[in-house]
Amino acid sequence: MDSTAPTHANDSNARHRRRVRAMLWFGAGMLTSMGAWWTLFFFNLGVKPLAMMEVGMLLTGLTVGALTYTKRTRAAFYLLILGAYVFITGIAWVMDIPSAEAPRTTHLFLLVLGLAAQLFLRDEPAYFRLPVVGGCLLTCVFLASTTTGMVSSFALPDSVRIMGSWVNAGAAIVGMFVLMQLIVSDLTDTSSLEADLRRALQRGEFHLLYQPQVTSQGHVFGAEALLRWYHPKRGLVSPGEFIPVAEQTGLIIPLGSWVLGTACTQLAEWSRQPDMAHLTLAVNVSAHQFGQSSFVEQVQTTAARTGANPKLLKVELTESMLAHDIEDIILKMHALKEIGVGTSLDDFGTGYSSLSYLKRLPLDQLKIDQSFVRDVMANGNDASIAKTIINLGKDLHFTVIAEGVETPDQRDFLMANDCHRFQGYLYSKPVSAPQLAQYVSHAHALS
Ligand code: C2E
Ligand code: MG
Ligand code: MG
Repeated sequence: MDSTAPTHANDSNARHRRRVRAMLWFGAGMLTSMGAWWTLFFFNLGVKPLAMMEVGMLLTGLTVGALTYTKRTRAAFYLLILGAYVFITGIAWVMDIPSAEAPRTTHLFLLVLGLAAQLFLRDEPAYFRLPVVGGCLLTCVFLASTTTGMVSSFALPDSVRIMGSWVNAGAAIVGMFVLMQLIVSDLTDTSSLEADLRRALQRGEFHLLYQPQVTSQGHVFGAEALLRWYHPKRGLVSPGEFIPVAEQTGLIIPLGSWVLGTACTQLAEWSRQPDMAHLTLAVNVSAHQFGQSSFVEQVQTTAARTGANPKLLKVELTESMLAHDIEDIILKMHALKEIGVGTSLDDFGTGYSSLSYLKRLPLDQLKIDQSFVRDVMANGNDASIAKTIINLGKDLHFTVIAEGVETPDQRDFLMANDCHRFQGYLYSKPVSAPQLAQYVSHAHALS
């Protein structure tokens, strides 16, 4: 069983990224073509300053295209949104002043921009996404509801604006249609994955794999339970893809209790096998799941129901969770400790945990994130971060485990710096429970 098999080819995140790129190409095309059209128009009319401004729009479009081509998606988006916002509001306020003959239409592009921002910032927190999207929409409301604008010699005559309103309104409606299409495809993707996830739980398509955790002497002291979804058509779907959807839809709650129940049943089974009875088992818990007021009680009843020894169970929290309601987290960690369940801080070094919080957490273990372990040999900064985490863990009396250890060099570096617990492909990929039993008895025979 290969846990590293690629996720199914039509990964919905990859499709989302393709949609975002399609939107950027479309935006670049719009700016470039509108810029080119109006440049020629004003040039023919002999209004040089306006023609030059339109050249600016054309160049912005070309730059967005170049950034998209070189896969600098974020830079492309921010240039597109900023450039387009400035041009649209500027033109609407200075040149496109409504009259009895022709309405103002330039502001309609702000609707397109708002939709584009909504698609691009889909996964960003609301406090960032809403002001950007809302800013575009509110400016549109303002420009649609007022007949005023700046009085200057640049205001376009109605003869131009009558033709322009057809071009603008037509192009903006096409833009809205294209973006709505992209957003609807995005939503359908998520909801079909959600429906599939619901069915998968009922049909028993989830499995747990176990990745051994090993000491510097090669002794297997525990394992981490890692969730896998074997979809009948899509094949193996990685947790990186379905956990976020499960979190968004609340399905993580039943899924998380299935994981906890299965892991505890496994622990109870190991307790009956002499070679396996000492193993600890770490279970990943998501923020939503840990946030439930009954979480600790659930852990306690699940352990009691399955016959698992709570002292061998470890709950893995991620550092990013600490950003929410730290007091509640600390209370729950204490309550878990009281019933014997350990806690580990996963992916340590990637979040923003403040050191003052860290010393208040009744943690048992820090897990050095694999991104630092990967480059300890090649990158001096990552090596320093790994060393700092090891020292921090020691000072705060936590055990430190390194994840993603793939080479003997990485292990030797970590050992030389006083980290003696490892998890990674150097030892084993995540494997099924029978394969783990084989691995443990083999390691036992060697030591
Ligand atoms: P994680 O908890 O940090 O798990 C470690 C990930 O690194 C696993 O990916 C594991 O297969 C992978 N890994 C282990 N050793 C190596 C190595 O030497 N090299 C490399 N490149 N990778 C290694 P996986 O299984 O795809 O899981 C990804 C993440 O999904 C996990 O990260 C965890 O955050 C989440 N996850 C997995 N199972 C569950 C679960 O039951 N519940 C929840 N809430 N999240 C889960
Ligand atoms: Mg983990
Ligand atoms: Mg991790």
